[in-house]
Amino acid sequence: MPETATDLEPVEDFRLRLRSWLADNMPRARRRGAAPLRPRGQMSDEEELAEVAYHRELQRRLFEGGFAGICFPKEYGGQGLTPEHQKVFNEEIWPYDYPARLQVPPMQPCATIILDFGTEEQKRRHIPAILRGDEIWMQMLSEPSGGSDVAGAQTTAVRDGDEWVLNGSKIWTTGAWWSDWALCLARTNWDVPKHRGLTVFMVPLRHEGIEIHRIEMLNGSREFCQEFLTDVRIPDSDRIGEVDQGWTVGTRWMFYEKSFSVSFYVTRPTPPEGSGDGMSVGGDTSLITEARRRGTLNDPATRELIGEAHALSLVSSEANRRIGEAIATGKMSDQGAGLSKIIGGTLGIRVANINFQLAGPAAAAWTEDSRAAGDQGVAFLTRQASQIGGGTTEMARNVVSERLLLMPRERTLDRDIPFRDVPRGPSTG
Ligand SMILES: Cc1cc2nc3c(=O)[nH]c(=O)nc-3n(C[C@H](O)[C@H](O)[C@H](O)COP(=O)(O)OP(=O)(O)OC[C@H]3O[C@@H](n4cnc5c(N)ncnc54)[C@H](O)[C@@H]3O)c2cc1C
Repeated sequence: MPETATDLEPVEDFRLRLRSWLADNMPRARRRGAAPLRPRGQMSDEEELAEVAYHRELQRRLFEGGFAGICFPKEYGGQGLTPEHQKVFNEEIWPYDYPARLQVPPMQPCATIILDFGTEEQKRRHIPAILRGDEIWMQMLSEPSGGSDVAGAQTTAVRDGDEWVLNGSKIWTTGAWWSDWALCLARTNWDVPKHRGLTVFMVPLRHEGIEIHRIEMLNGSREFCQEFLTDVRIPDSDRIGEVDQGWTVGTRWMFYEKSFSVSFYVTRPTPPEGSGDGMSVGGDTSLITEARRRGTLNDPATRELIGEAHALSLVSSEANRRIGEAIATGKMSDQGAGLSKIIGGTLGIRVANINFQLAGPAAAAWTEDSRAAGDQGVAFLTRQASQIGGGTTEMARNVVSERLLLMPRERTLDRDIPFRDVPRGPSTG
């Protein structure tokens, strides 16, 4: 956990030091400037790789300037500061480009899981490298047989001396083709019930036996990948946590996956209060600026939608703040992160709809000159992702009802029998 404020640099001193450093060292945000950028997944491979290199460079600048990993401990390259300092960082970084690709999942859940469960050697080797932008990490959880039933993983790891041999397939790994490492959940014991036979490994993505296939989606994006693992040899020193205790790591992993909005380990640029900026939750475009540009700002329907977006944005940030505080102070269990997932997933869809409507016809058919509206069109097409990525909102509803509201558990047929005996369809082996 991050440190408390005692004996640390006062938050307002930190703000002033940071503000002056950012002005001298970080480029102004391009998406709010003249040169529009294609959204992630819509770029050519060359553009995407250049973007990854750019984000690594931004992260390196932050690291060398002493501003990377605000809440990560100093001994692993972080700043050892508090969530309050991270909040200030989020506000001050708003006008600048920042290394978005290094936040989720590299910082959280990957680096946070290494921090919580890694050996001293693992932490010293990987956390500074992630904070410096040298290592980009992804997560290999979902499998072709289904992503919701994470504990039903069938990718198998078998021990061979000081090594483990992994076989199987993972899917929907965002950005695996341009990343360096991944956390991978694998089955190490088929003779016990499903939650008791899992182990987590650190897997270098460019490794003998790993084939990365890119998946093309309907909108043209090829960011998702499927990995095929054939006799991949991983040293035991790259195992995270105890053998067969992967569910303990996995539970925390999923907590971190659902709690970005309440977390202090990732950077989430926050617009200055009252600026009207950032009202498209999750996007960069100011709805007011956009409506003014289109000459629709005085249209009552437009004003109503802008008002709704603003209300949703306030409700979501306030709710997430309260959930985050309740979890941090122990008033709510970690499972409260499920509430944040439901809020984010549900509002994400509504806000994508509002943005699409406000952007007008150019959101459906855009040109180079109206690419900002085109971004809203692409976001509209992929809006459902907010209810699926990081675990679905249906699964989050299960968790909230069973773990927070203590309603009866969903009936399952595979909890108490060896995983080997769980009936499986022919396609999943
Ligand atoms: C933007 C995005 C990024 C992603 N990135 C990654 C990544 O980097 N790494 C990774 O491993 N995965 C990633 N995923 C995959 C994601 O985790 C899975 O898609 C998700 O967990 C659901 O799994 P599934 O698609 O296999 O659906 P399934 O598990 O097959 O579920 C299908 C439907 O059934 C519902 N359902 C299933 N079980 C239950 C139940 N018990 N109760 C109620 N409803 C249920 C689900 O909610 C869903 O609607 C990403 C997905 C998205 C959209």
